[in-house]
Amino acid sequence: MTITRRELLVQLMGGMAASAAVTPPNAVTSKAMSKMAGSVGIPRPIHLDRNENAYGASEKAIAAIRESASEANRYPEPLGALREALASQHAVDAEQIVVGCGSSEVLRMAATAFLSQGKKLILASPTFELIRQYAQARKATVVEVRLRKNYSHDLNAILEVARKGSGLVYLCNPNNPTGTLTERKELETFLGNLPPTFHAVIDEAYHHYAGGSGAYTSFIDRPVGNPRVIVVRTFSKAYGLAGVRVGYAVTSAETAKKVGADRLPFGLNRTGVMAAIAALGDPQYIDECTRRNADDRQEFFNQVNARMLRALDSHTNFVCLNVMRPAVQILEHYRKYNFLLAPLIPEMPTYLRISLGKPEEMHEFWRVWDVLGSHHMSM
Ligand code: PLP
Repeated sequence: MTITRRELLVQLMGGMAASAAVTPPNAVTSKAMSKMAGSVGIPRPIHLDRNENAYGASEKAIAAIRESASEANRYPEPLGALREALASQHAVDAEQIVVGCGSSEVLRMAATAFLSQGKKLILASPTFELIRQYAQARKATVVEVRLRKNYSHDLNAILEVARKGSGLVYLCNPNNPTGTLTERKELETFLGNLPPTFHAVIDEAYHHYAGGSGAYTSFIDRPVGNPRVIVVRTFSKAYGLAGVRVGYAVTSAETAKKVGADRLPFGLNRTGVMAAIAALGDPQYIDECTRRNADDRQEFFNQVNARMLRALDSHTNFVCLNVMRPAVQILEHYRKYNFLLAPLIPEMPTYLRISLGKPEEMHEFWRVWDVLGSHHMSM
């Protein structure tokens, strides 16, 4: 019998709810746990669920956000200034830039432009799933291709699916939720062989954290000259601006026109636009955040090793941790301590994706982990 991802999730969540009703002997009750949880003075809930920048946005961006408040009564200016700033940042023409209300909107626009009934969306499993729902809304066929054993994209299998028909390939690199890379060289070969009936979205949401690996070079920084490649970026991660919703794509002028055709007029707000422009003007802040992230990630792996656990090699601001037991148990454990963690990954039932928080939050994360050893789980 085959089981869909949604069914699996429902079953796991059902199991979680059933087990939560049982208080094991000698266990601390969840009320007492919540009290303990508040005892260390860190604001709750602790967000380790959405891969945000735990350190916030740069002072320059925050100043721009404050300044924008005095003009809140005015509709945003046309988006020219942001597109110009991005074009200058990436040494491309403004016509090659599509901006959106978060990269989520850019993904939606790409789906609208290239997917409809009879067309295919090809994406990895597991990967960042949002574009799937846009494809389904367009009545396109969604084809999933499992990641390889090393958690990179199986580009040959994707090519096999793309041999027939037309549509869109979605490649998240580094990949969410695994944090792993697909090598630049392999991607180049893949793009060279992709049939002309397909466009390819390369989602570089975690670009700033992937530096340092020889296997990674952005397709914006070193383009391959393929007009059907759409590289998507966001201000929600390293820039620390998830709350003001700005994302963009860099592609050929011809493709940008098609993708941008479905943009909501005034979909971006004045605050987001001003913050994003200011953030682009503060590259030192990004350097500082990526350095901190590298330190925080290293410390996470030190703690993983100290506990004889396993985690996938991460090129992002999150780590995919093998919790060595059904991940649903760990999710439930952390819920009692008022932590927000990412949902289960149905294809990887012993893994949890943990966003890296500030050192004190991660210290608390491991303190709560160690409680697991001192009393029985409630399952
Ligand atoms: N792409 C990836 C890979 C993501 O992980 C996310 C959010 O977590 C997004 C896109 C959407 O981000 P936003 O809409 O905030 O730009």
